[in-house]
Amino acid sequence: TTETQDRETTDGFHLVIDALKLNDIDTIFALPGIPITDFLRIAQADGMKVISFRHEQHAGNAAAAAGFITGKPGICFTVSAPGFLNGLTALANATTNCFPMILISGSSEREVVDLQQGDYEEMDQLAIAKPLCKAAFRVLHAEDIGVGIARAIRAAVSGRPGGVYLDLPAKVFAQSVAKDVAERSLIKVVDPAPKQIPAPEAIQRAVDLLKGAKKPLIILGKGAAYAQADAEIRSFIEKTGIPYLPMSMAKGLLPDNHPQAASAARSYVLAEADVVMLVGARLNWLLSHGKGKTWGAGDSKGWGKQQFIQIDISPTEADSNVAVAAPLVGDIGSAIGALNQAIGSGLGKVPAEWTGAIAERKDKNLTKMAETLAKNPPVMNFHSALNVVRETVKANPKAYLVNEGANALDFTRSIVDMYEPRRRLDVGTWGIMGIGMGFAVAAAAVTGEQVIAVEGDSAFGFSGMEVETICRYNLPICIVVMNNNGIYKGTDVNPRGDAMAVTQFVKNARYDMMMEAFGGVGVTAKNPEELDKALKEAIASRKPTLINALIDESAGTESGRITSLNPAAAKKKT
Ligand code: ADP
Repeated sequence: TTETQDRETTDGFHLVIDALKLNDIDTIFALPGIPITDFLRIAQADGMKVISFRHEQHAGNAAAAAGFITGKPGICFTVSAPGFLNGLTALANATTNCFPMILISGSSEREVVDLQQGDYEEMDQLAIAKPLCKAAFRVLHAEDIGVGIARAIRAAVSGRPGGVYLDLPAKVFAQSVAKDVAERSLIKVVDPAPKQIPAPEAIQRAVDLLKGAKKPLIILGKGAAYAQADAEIRSFIEKTGIPYLPMSMAKGLLPDNHPQAASAARSYVLAEADVVMLVGARLNWLLSHGKGKTWGAGDSKGWGKQQFIQIDISPTEADSNVAVAAPLVGDIGSAIGALNQAIGSGLGKVPAEWTGAIAERKDKNLTKMAETLAKNPPVMNFHSALNVVRETVKANPKAYLVNEGANALDFTRSIVDMYEPRRRLDVGTWGIMGIGMGFAVAAAAVTGEQVIAVEGDSAFGFSGMEVETICRYNLPICIVVMNNNGIYKGTDVNPRGDAMAVTQFVKNARYDMMMEAFGGVGVTAKNPEELDKALKEAIASRKPTLINALIDESAGTESGRITSLNPAAAKKKT
């Protein structure tokens, strides 16, 4: 087939490809360079889909998103030292988000690295990766590639999913191995993410708590979305009639307009619930650590009255922040399946006082939101722009929605309803920026579906160069840049007047021209009508499109909804 192969022997290049293919992995996200350029060429020639990026962090983020969407580890290849470090940011983020991903980096010669003799891009990559991911391995002999890939796959997808680093020193690629040895060395991983069946007494404990609840609540996290147990989860929620809240990446697991969705009464249900069942959601900062005013406690450090049930595959997650009365350790599919069995046709009715009170608040808030969305102020703002996105997603429920920014994130999350599972990809557990174009490319490349990326103008800057990648692969991605001329907003002033303020960007920047530079479609939208027209055209044509949505530069608040995390704001409060 290729010149590196002859009749009796194969080599490291082909062993890596064969090991991946044997495990049904057909896509690689990468950035070519020494020592992986030839590997990527051979992989492409051998029929793998290779998507090459302009910066490793975005290739890594793409691998992570592919992992979340498919449940198979997303694969990212980088060069050594700096390329590896760029990819490592994405690997650490994937691990934090519990997304399965494998970062494979070429590395320098061990002998030179270990004596610190100054090799080209010298770095002890394995040691550096280890504390930042779930597991890290190195292969030193080509005949160990099969084991290395098998271990990486198992580590990435079993138990709590996460990021795995695999170190491949350059010389391993070129090593030749006798074909019979090579064949035997490859491993097809059997049952890579084994079911974990929860104990019957743990199920009973949870059912008993739910039975006694007057104000039960279910919280669905991105672990629930990842688990691909959509039908079981929906059945449990509908049979019990318990109101539920989706965390941002669990939106769409059940359609956001589901009658039991309590998102529009979020603060009420969190403060009032008595029994809360967490399904693949951690009680971290995104849920105020399970205590304080959010949970109805009198002061910010106090405890609420809730008793928690927590379904999680990780046995050490329970009690991480507050006591968990009924930990339910197992995979979500098995756990919810067992709960469905245990409750039969249901649990008895959820008290009408509780569901009625929620419905009342929901109605009030939804009416208020509808009024705000119906306004069409002379200068477009987040609401009038996102109202258009909201209708677009409603009409295209299979589309993926990538979302990052501060205000662009907060407003989109609450305004744009999702209707299908795993369609919303966002800033995740860290709440970071920079995932936008990597996640968008992954969703389009892996599923072929339309992607809409709603980006703050600041957030877009982190991965904006990947518009070239989007155009190169002609991906059906429509980016909407919410352009308000700055970070948070564009109206800050530098009191000294000798330079622009630290949060300001070039005014009226033409992000649309970035897309045009590479042959895509660029549009400026000054009002909802123009935005709507551009979105419709992008979706009909499936052409790479960037809509520069000009919004009021005074729209937005400092850090969006997490203003209080700024040290100066925190200082003011004390
Ligand atoms: P969110 O940010 O949406 O609240 P988190 O990322 O905090 O969600 O929580 C996801 C949780 O889901 C993690 O604790 C992880 O261990 C768990 N998890 C992931 N996959 C599964 C699975 N298949 N079965 C059970 N738990 C899972």
